[in-house]
Amino acid sequence: MSIPRLIDKYGREHHYLRISVTDRCNLRCIYCMPEEGMEFEPSDKILTFEEIVEVVRVVAGMGIRKIRLTGGEPLVRKNLEQLVAMIACTPGIEDISLTTNGMFLAPKAKALKEAGLTRVNISMDSLHPDRFKLITRGGDVRKVLNSIDACVKAGLCPIKLNVVLMRGLNDDEIADFIRLTLDRDIHVRFIEYMPIGHHDAGWKNLYMPLARVKEVCAEQQWDYEPEAAVQGNGPSENYRLDGALGSFGLIHPVSEHFCQTCNRLRLTADGYIKPCLAWTEQFHVRRVVGDDEAMRQLFLDALGTKPENHEMSHFLKNDVTISHAPTARRMSQIGG
Ligand code: SAM
Ligand code: SF4
Repeated sequence: MSIPRLIDKYGREHHYLRISVTDRCNLRCIYCMPEEGMEFEPSDKILTFEEIVEVVRVVAGMGIRKIRLTGGEPLVRKNLEQLVAMIACTPGIEDISLTTNGMFLAPKAKALKEAGLTRVNISMDSLHPDRFKLITRGGDVRKVLNSIDACVKAGLCPIKLNVVLMRGLNDDEIADFIRLTLDRDIHVRFIEYMPIGHHDAGWKNLYMPLARVKEVCAEQQWDYEPEAAVQGNGPSENYRLDGALGSFGLIHPVSEHFCQTCNRLRLTADGYIKPCLAWTEQFHVRRVVGDDEAMRQLFLDALGTKPENHEMSHFLKNDVTISHAPTARRMSQIGG
């Protein structure tokens, strides 16, 4: 019997699994988690490394090639490099990357690289220490900058910086972030603030369409060209300033969704498959670990509920009409 591929009813083939290894985090970024009152899963509800690797083994047989480890903050999970090494041995897996806030990354960069990590995305929403601290509710941008240096030394390249753009909070830093690419081989990715788990007036006030990035380039009279070759870049629309070593990209899920090319599935730390980041559907995989056929069927069932379009932009309108129930889980509970 041939093993089914992960193709949904819209013909999208899925090659990419984002795995959240924990819902906990050392920070409380304003767009991701409330300052207080987050309830975390007890440790016995969190998938073990062995269970995660079992899931990876089964989906690799169905066509998954790329894995991203995320959270919460993945580096609050002890011995993450062991998980990287375990996944790296799984036949079919070609690429393992990590999304991290960078606070604990510098001392781990070398071990992660040696374990088989290919790349890192580091979240950094401001270059100003005070502002960074405010947005992350306690983060230290100097530690993140040290981590970037440590990753360059360890050969974890290309480094991508994730910048969630927010009106009135960091939109005056667009040019500074792009200037970073002039003499460094890094890729700065501006990301629209998404209404995940909350879509109230607070979100609407801070949300800023990424069209603003191109306006800033025009104001600066910068020449830039589309850039195709940014490794593992998924939905990002990429550019390079004339003569720059690095590049920048725009990820605009709200103003211009890219669902038609979505090739990703998510696995939450508490063991649910999430076919779409924005919708409520989730499927508990832990109960089928050890039964490959049941697990494959569960992934196909999950894919069967994947919407054609996440409809996030509808929350910008006053009369919200959406065809599905949006998720009540926050980004840190799903794995961004
Ligand atoms: N803690 C790690 C970090 O911050 O990089 C990994 C988990 S975090 C949930 C993954 C990514 O999601 C980060 O780049 C973060 O900036 C982004 N993110 C979180 N909430 C978001 C939101 N509401 N809209 C857009 N991006 C968001
Ligand atoms: Fe933590 Fe990352 Fe969410 Fe910030 S974005 S609170 S660092 S999980």
